[in-house]
Amino acid sequence: MNAPAAGVRYASVVLDVDSTLTRVEGIEWLAERRGPRVAQAVAEMTQRAMEGGTPLDAVYGARLALVKPARSDVDALADAYSAGVVPGARLAIGEVQAAGIRVVAVSGGLRQAVARFAISLGIAGRDIYAVSLRFTADGEYAGFDETSPLARRGGKPIVVRGLGLARPIIGVGDGSTDAELKTMAGGDIPAVDAFAAFVGVASRPAVVAVADYVVHNMAELPALVLGTAVPARS
Ligand SMILES: [Mg+2]
Repeated sequence: MNAPAAGVRYASVVLDVDSTLTRVEGIEWLAERRGPRVAQAVAEMTQRAMEGGTPLDAVYGARLALVKPARSDVDALADAYSAGVVPGARLAIGEVQAAGIRVVAVSGGLRQAVARFAISLGIAGRDIYAVSLRFTADGEYAGFDETSPLARRGGKPIVVRGLGLARPIIGVGDGSTDAELKTMAGGDIPAVDAFAAFVGVASRPAVVAVADYVVHNMAELPALVLGTAVPARS
């Protein structure tokens, strides 16, 4: 019987959060908290953006303007993220870090919730990147960081390039903004050296199509990152 061929040992791992480390999609979860009408409107905006009818950049702020998440909503979202953690996430992150590999979280989600959740999984606060919200003194929604590349299409490659992570780098995520880490070369080398589509929560054919690897379960991640096994392409 042949042992699996050794793969590449990566020096850095870039992880998505929503639908990758947790089953929860933050903006949808917050919209549902506002009732069926807001949830429906937000779902339609997301759908229009996916179909290309509305630029994602415009949708990001429009969804938040509709949901207006207060500080208390974002705190509740952090709890929901934790309750929805995917099996094996904390263990996988710990194993990868124990091998001396840097793990960063890069998310288009809301920083106040993403950070609390990712820190609970053992990711360092300085290695967590997401979009900050502003609140009034009373804790009401007062806007988001519109300068963040993560609120726009093509933002993840910009952020990851800016981090100067040790190579080779592997990106892991479920969404089209994660796949851009590999596909948006922009005449330069891609922001990551390999991209793994995580399909344990949502499997998106367009994302899987451009992936170097497909990860079904977080328990598969350490062997992939450490180069001790090569998982099947799909
Ligand atoms: Mg995601």
